Amino acid sequence: MSTSIAADTVVGLRYVLRNSTGETLDRSEDDDPLLYLHGHSNIVPGLERALDGKATGDKLVVVVAPEDGYGAREAGAERKVPRGAFPDDVELEVGMELVMEDTKTGDEQPFWIKAVGADTVTIDLNHPLAGVELHFDVEVLSVRAATAEELDHGHPHGPGGHHHH
Ligand code: ZN
Repeated sequence: MSTSIAADTVVGLRYVLRNSTGETLDRSEDDDPLLYLHGHSNIVPGLERALDGKATGDKLVVVVAPEDGYGAREAGAERKVPRGAFPDDVELEVGMELVMEDTKTGDEQPFWIKAVGADTVTIDLNHPLAGVELHFDVEVLSVRAATAEELDHGHPHGPGGHHHH
């Protein structure tokens, strides 16, 4: 008897993510598979849809268009910001994700560091993988029902999952 992947199951995955030229962009650690809660937007929509109904041991290759991945890349989403606009204690690195908050509305906008100069930092509101066709090589390692607490939080707990302190 094996459970198949459906809404509210916790799924363990081994994966490799490549772009359309075969360059590896990301992969799960051998001893630390990705754990996610199916049906709760923990992973990109195109991959989540492809995994629906799959079971432990299934291997699949999934090609996800940008619209079903991290979205299209929007032009004009780069900004140059004075270095002084960032807190002194934050060590800025290229590729780092940060969040700015609109002090009036409280809305949060993620952004990514593209370049760090002496006086100026270039930021991009696009996710680094926006506009990229995603090629996933995936193996389903485990499927189980989520606990009530996991459903409440919207993410898995336990080894490989979300840790609370
Ligand atoms: Zn939690």
